Amino acid sequence: MIGRLRFFPEKLNWMSFEERKEHKEALLRRHLRYMYDRSPEYYQVKFKECGAVPEDIKTLEDLRTLPVMMDKDAERQSMEASLEKYGHPFGLHACCDPADVISTGGTSGTTGHPTYPYSQTGEDFDLVGQTVAWVHNDVLGLGRGDRAFFLFPLGVYATSVLLPGIRRAGVLPLDIDIRLGTQVALDLVKWTRPNFWWTGPTIAFFFIDLFKEKLGIDPKDLGFKCLLLTGEIGAGIPELKKTVEDAYGCRWYDFWGPSATSLSMSCNSDEYYGLHNFADDWDICYEDLIDPGSRQPVEVKDGAVGEIVVTHLRKKASPYLRYATGDVVEVATSECPGCGFKGYRAKVIGRADDMLTVKGVNVFGRVIKEKLQTFVPRVTGLMRIIKEDPSPRITTLKLRLEYGPGMEGKLDELAAEIKAVMKSELRVNPQIEWTEPGSLQTASHKQPLFEKRYE
Ligand SMILES: [Zn+2]
Repeated sequence: MIGRLRFFPEKLNWMSFEERKEHKEALLRRHLRYMYDRSPEYYQVKFKECGAVPEDIKTLEDLRTLPVMMDKDAERQSMEASLEKYGHPFGLHACCDPADVISTGGTSGTTGHPTYPYSQTGEDFDLVGQTVAWVHNDVLGLGRGDRAFFLFPLGVYATSVLLPGIRRAGVLPLDIDIRLGTQVALDLVKWTRPNFWWTGPTIAFFFIDLFKEKLGIDPKDLGFKCLLLTGEIGAGIPELKKTVEDAYGCRWYDFWGPSATSLSMSCNSDEYYGLHNFADDWDICYEDLIDPGSRQPVEVKDGAVGEIVVTHLRKKASPYLRYATGDVVEVATSECPGCGFKGYRAKVIGRADDMLTVKGVNVFGRVIKEKLQTFVPRVTGLMRIIKEDPSPRITTLKLRLEYGPGMEGKLDELAAEIKAVMKSELRVNPQIEWTEPGSLQTASHKQPLFEKRYE
């Protein structure tokens, strides 16, 4: 069945939960030794700091007794240090010869220097390629003769690492940079007629009207078989999922490779059942959660909420060992009601640094966005949370919202309605600032949540 998730590689499907755990623990023991031996200036130092050696860590439970060994800032420092000392940007935690890195991709560096966590050796490259190809061929039934409209800001970014796998699936990717403008992208669709789409949720949402207005085509008539949307929270917002799926007449699959870790995706279901961790033996991922504030372990069970801590089990280039990703998720450990998948699933709640404490109440930007979505089309759905200073602790939540077309005379009433919902459902009482439709749209595939007024 199209869109039903199984594990990849295939052999994992024939293992019980316990057998999969033992298989991953065997990979863990081997990879800890690899990381320790190959990274004397980072991982060996970290082990020594906590008085441990790799052989002390035999199980998942043992792993969780180690401290967090890296986060985004430490990764950046590690990369700066290797650049200065050895002339390569792959970090002191690089575990291969830098000359063996054949592919790289990174973060855009919008919040600092760019990092290159998607660096791959030939072996890593093959694993990602095989997995991405498997998703197209086996999960989505796509392959030879299919054409992907691949619309992201490209360059050395995260998404470009997907392209070799798409080609390996036999699919033709028509890749174009969104920064060339929407007209160029629309022309590409007009002249090449792709039949499915890889992009970000915000772009897919805004192109609904653009296809109608600029190309005179109802998006349903484009004949898209599916949408593979990544890079932002979106499919977890029921109103947004339904609007986009109805407009394009096809399924929206949420796709995620959190901080260069295993790929996860949602299944073929009207209801959103989260990202399924199908590439289960790439890493320890949804099984290792911490409290984003205290960094203490969170017990992993159905409904547990915490920040993902990643440990790679197979990656050779610059693997992670207890890396705090900053991604806060709600984990589901039960079988998926939509497709029967037996592994762990997760719904992204937000970034640990997107969490605000408003008069003692914790709230994530994503949740505010979800509530706002219920007011579309009276609002466009785009918003910013205004930050007057860097502290996550604030006394007043200030929101800048785009009103929908034709709403100019009714904004006070609408603001009162939104405030009432936020107060009753999120226990926050926001101040609302209105801005005209289109004013918050950016050319990037990611919409920032915050507007920082202190920088
Ligand atoms: Zn499912």
